[in-house]
This record gives sequence, C-alpha cells and structure tokens, in this order.
Amino acid sequence: MRVLILALTLLHLPLLNAEPVKCDTIHDHPSIRYLGVGAFDIRYQNQRVLTDPFYSPHSYWDVLFPYTPDIPQITKVLGPPKANVDAIFIGHGHYDHAADLPAIQSYLNKDASIFSSQSSEFIFNSFMSSDNLHGISESEFGKWIHTANGWIRFKAYASEHAPQALGINLFPKKHTKKLNRPPKYMWDWSQGTNINWLIDFLAAPNSNKVIERIFIQTSASEFPIGLPEIDDNIIVDKVFLAAASFENVDNYPTGIIKALEPKSIFFIHWENFFTQWYTNPSPLALIDLDTLLNEKTLHNRLKDSKLAHPNHCY
Ligand SMILES: [Zn+2]
Repeated sequence: MRVLILALTLLHLPLLNAEPVKCDTIHDHPSIRYLGVGAFDIRYQNQRVLTDPFYSPHSYWDVLFPYTPDIPQITKVLGPPKANVDAIFIGHGHYDHAADLPAIQSYLNKDASIFSSQSSEFIFNSFMSSDNLHGISESEFGKWIHTANGWIRFKAYASEHAPQALGINLFPKKHTKKLNRPPKYMWDWSQGTNINWLIDFLAAPNSNKVIERIFIQTSASEFPIGLPEIDDNIIVDKVFLAAASFENVDNYPTGIIKALEPKSIFFIHWENFFTQWYTNPSPLALIDLDTLLNEKTLHNRLKDSKLAHPNHCY
C-alpha cells in the first residue's frame, strides 16, 4: 500500500506547480519570473523577454547522448506557445544557457530578436533564420540598444566564464563562421564571449525615464570583468548574479556589490541542473552556499540578498 501511495505521489508530482505562477505587477513595474539556472521570463508593458533558454533536465549520463528538449517540461515552465516573445538575451553559448532555443521557436513573435555573442549567433544560425539573430558586435558593447518595441533598453558588457573546476573552462570555443549542422551533443554548444546585461524598463517607448534597472550576469567573472559602467546616477534596483563557480574567480560577487550598490541582490544558477530543478531544486555539489551567503562575501549586504527560487517572481 505504502509503495502504491508513493508511486501515485510521484506520478502526481509534475502536476503540482503545473502552471507557471503569475507575477503581480505593481505600479507598472516589470514582472521578473525566475525559471532556474540562467533563465528568466520577464513581462513588461505587454512585452515578453526571456533569458538563457534551458529548461530540460538531463542527468550526467544523458550528457553522452544527443541533447533532447523535454517538451512537456518546456510547456510547464513557459506555458503553451503563443508566439509572444519579443526578445531573448543569451549570456553565452553553453548548453545550460541556450540548448532549448531550437525547441522554443514557436514562442517567438516573427520580429523577435535573439541577442547573444557573435559566436553564439553562428551556432543559432544553423537552425534559425539570421533575421531574428543579433550577435552583439565589438562596437555595440557598452552602448544602449532598444528592444521590445522600445519599452526596454539594454547595454551588453563582455564578460568571462569562471572555470568550472580545477582551473578548467569547458568548451570555450568562439565560432567565427556559421556551423554547417545544428548542435547535436551538449559539447557542440560552445561558450564564445560571455555577456552581462544592464537592462532598463522604460516609462514610455524609447524614453529616457527608467522605471526599473536590473543587471543580469549568468556566469561568475573575476572583478571587474563585465562590470557595467553607470554614468547617469540611476540606481540599480536588482542584480541577478550567477552563484556557480563563484569561488573560482577573485572578488566575486563582492566587487560587483560594492561597485553597483544595488537595492536587492539575487543569486541564480545555483541549482543542480542534472536533476529536476524547476519544481524541486537542490544546490550544485560544488557550491559552498555558506561562504556565498555571508556578510564578508556580500560586502555586508546579507539582509538584501537571497537565493532566487525557480518559478518565483522578483
Ligand atoms: Zn557556461
């Protein structure tokens, strides 16, 4: 009997949280729903922006086989496809930041922009039209780019990728030409240049009035690499910083917190993505959360800091 109850409970687990939670939007502020790892689903003024599309859990063993998107999981996380995504920001090309992009093309509206490094653009161009791809060029780094019908502007900053372990950075390749076939295995998703994003949500399309400013960094980097330059005195409301590999680089996240003085600090990319992380996240084995979440690392900002939880709004 107990076994039966357990079996039924397990069967029903995916039904819990089956619907993406609806974020309350207060005073026209953006709703920022965290989806786990580097992924967000951001809604603002009828615009929809995603980041680092990766939703399909794969075990260590699965890594040896061709990558297969988990379509029921994608539907659970993003809802059914409505072709309403206006833009996607992709921080780098590794599979845990981009590998579900081929599977979510039906979520994109026809003018959607995929912002990434130029190396990642060469990967994406092997399975989708270049009309929607915008690889950030050298001359565009640090300059405002408008998207989402002018409601959002952002600056991209070239950053770096902390070594995953033992000083080794896996699959770092930068592509310089279009791949002749779409990526098949996880190691086909090569890193390229890492990008951090300073994002402003605007009071009116293409205006200079900022309703909320956030900073998203989906890979740890040595300070001050990838640090945004703030030259307009507008406060950074929220920073979303990768926790993975934070101890493998110097002065992270401490330097960023000290330099930007954000109102709130959220840590992302802390979940073990080799198991189900959307409904039942557990930390990556190599992350020392006690060291991350202490006053010294956080430059005395522990009270303003927290781990972001998948399917929660920030
Ligand atoms: Zn990576």
